[in-house]
Amino acid sequence: MKNAVTQAFEKYFQDSPLYIIRAPGRVNLIGEHTDYNDGFVLPMTIDRAVWIALRPRADYQVFIHSLDFPYPAAFNLKAITHQKGWSKYAKGVAWALQEAGFHPTGWEGVISSDIPIGAGLSSSAALEMAVAKAFSMVSGWKFEPGIMARIGQRAENEWVGANTGIMDQLVSAAGQANHALLIDCRDLSIQPIPLPNETAVVVMDTATRHSHTASGYNERREECEAAANFLGVSHLRDVSLEEFNMRASNLDELLRRRARHVITENARVLQAANAMSANGAAQMGKLMNASHVSMRDDFEITNDELNIMVNLAQSQPGCFGARMTGGGFGGCAVALVQANTANAFVSSVHAAYQKATNLTPNIFVCQATKGAETVR
Ligand code: ADP
Ligand code: MG
Repeated sequence: MKNAVTQAFEKYFQDSPLYIIRAPGRVNLIGEHTDYNDGFVLPMTIDRAVWIALRPRADYQVFIHSLDFPYPAAFNLKAITHQKGWSKYAKGVAWALQEAGFHPTGWEGVISSDIPIGAGLSSSAALEMAVAKAFSMVSGWKFEPGIMARIGQRAENEWVGANTGIMDQLVSAAGQANHALLIDCRDLSIQPIPLPNETAVVVMDTATRHSHTASGYNERREECEAAANFLGVSHLRDVSLEEFNMRASNLDELLRRRARHVITENARVLQAANAMSANGAAQMGKLMNASHVSMRDDFEITNDELNIMVNLAQSQPGCFGARMTGGGFGGCAVALVQANTANAFVSSVHAAYQKATNLTPNIFVCQATKGAETVR
């Protein structure tokens, strides 16, 4: 990827890039739809990223070729206007930076990514964090992961119009090699959690796709808000399982299931972080399996393909646990497997899923990498 963006930069601009930036995608190990409920999540970065090769401009123009899209992003920072297409992510970041009192200046470059798009691995958050890092380099401020993650979230919420939480941007900005991050989405505090010894994390893309703005994502947020309202709290984070069990019978049946997912999932994330820290791969796997059941039955964000993929994964030798990951309604599942069975796991699940669905999945082992960084 680094070579690809460097060579393309040289071709387009007849010069070497001044900076090369990467910002990784992420896979969430456990803690789904808990972020906007002010709860806990346990994502890790993956070894797939958005890359940008760039140089500053002396004016307020931003010009970015994408090797993955047939058209560039081109806009003037003094007059950012809404437009369809991928440039909205770059514009949204520039806009949110200005709103927060930063003074972004122009740059030009080339972008490319090996994060599958729309799969729930947060190609959009990686793009936002790479663009924020680019602005920080050319405009001269320190890239504070927590602050830049908020900028990316605001861009996605208010400019792009996808009502997503803070997890994706924060893990892309603050990730650490070989660790997942336990994030408290209320105060954004981060605790790196090592992966259990001799395990591998496998991402399994079902080749079915979500679309945030069109899907039930915003609907789930509204349902969580309604449940929190009913329970008299600002966020479901503030309801303990005991309290919920006492009061849930008065809650509308649908909202009760939605809230139960969030409240039990928050508890599972904390248990999972403890299990991982104590090298408890088997316990971690059980929690992942329970999380999938909760998303399938209570939160109803899986589709048939995700359920098939997870069932196939769970039945493989050496698999500790598996669940769908990301916003849901398509995209990826994730499994924790014994490292020495990982290759066999990938080929068996690939073949079995293809046979069961006639779809070609994309299944790969991944490693946690450093968050958004300037590699040159
Ligand atoms: P994801 O789950 O991958 O984050 P989203 O729908 O939230 O899915 O974001 C995908 C969008 O992000 C793409 O439609 C595109 O606009 C933008 N994007 C992702 N990768 C790239 C890239 N390499 N170049 C340009 N835009 C990209
Ligand atoms: Mg996204």
